[in-house]
Amino acid sequence: KATHFIGMPSGNAARCEKYGEKDMSFGLEDKVAIVTGGASGIGEASTRRLISAGAKVCIVDMDGNAAEKLAGEIGSRATAIVADISDPADVERATQAALSAFGRIDLLHSNAGIIGEPGPIAGASAANFDRVFSVNVRSAVLMIGAVVPEMRRQGGGSIVITASVGGIRPSPGLGIYAASKLALVALAKTAAVELGVDNIRVNAIAPGLTDTPAFRATRQIPAGEDEGIFDNVALPLGRVGSPAEVANMVAWLFGDEASYVTGGLYHVDGGLGV
Ligand code: NAD
Repeated sequence: KATHFIGMPSGNAARCEKYGEKDMSFGLEDKVAIVTGGASGIGEASTRRLISAGAKVCIVDMDGNAAEKLAGEIGSRATAIVADISDPADVERATQAALSAFGRIDLLHSNAGIIGEPGPIAGASAANFDRVFSVNVRSAVLMIGAVVPEMRRQGGGSIVITASVGGIRPSPGLGIYAASKLALVALAKTAAVELGVDNIRVNAIAPGLTDTPAFRATRQIPAGEDEGIFDNVALPLGRVGSPAEVANMVAWLFGDEASYVTGGLYHVDGGLGV
């Protein structure tokens, strides 16, 4: 007779065993995902990675052109939903649109975010603070609130929130952004505890320097220009990361291989956050 740790329900060994080795689809075939900010950068890479794993993706983005273009390129397993996720009415509408498109919601990648106006904390405006926190943090609260009833009905789900190494290390000149990103880590941890009983896992990721349109815009690097950009001797791995490298972590966290992983913060940062 198997021995169980105190508090471990009997039958746990059998439950663990069913998560053996799998292919790189991580059991995501036909799962339905919402990816906010899914039309650019890390969100776009997440969309593409989930599609390649066999999932269906609702690309929720306020940039309608980019979202339609990407969904058009992918075909019937993606749909573009134009929404400003800092707006509660848009979040509700986007969630309903996702349900009407694919009939269920299994995965939420809460990813859209902005840096806001750069500058020191002393002197930051209330308007900038409110904008950054409503796009980066309040949107995650609203999105979680919108999808959890559906995940509960279905018997479970998985949520990944894009935080940032910028919230873990001091980020001079980006203090409001940094505060918003660390707030997301707190949200992920608490939501993980609150939603474990519903079989909904919640994790946060902390990308480091990642080559996205937003990353290039802040450094005035033209699109398509690669010379020297990927070399960064200050990083342990010596280079800037690609959005696809972040998306690999998202897919893994969503998948069955991460079935016992919740409430965590996962750096994908080439060692920046060490
Ligand atoms: P990006 O600007 O390339 O993409 C962000 C997408 O989000 C865009 O398509 C944009 O239209 C969308 N978006 C912005 N505000 C929105 C809103 N209110 N409603 C709906 N959509 C909205 O940015 P990125 O670099 O890919 O960043 C994605 C996430 O990763 C952000 O949360 C960012 O803070 C985080 N991050 C990025 C880096 C990096 O180096 N690029 C590092 C750490 C964390």
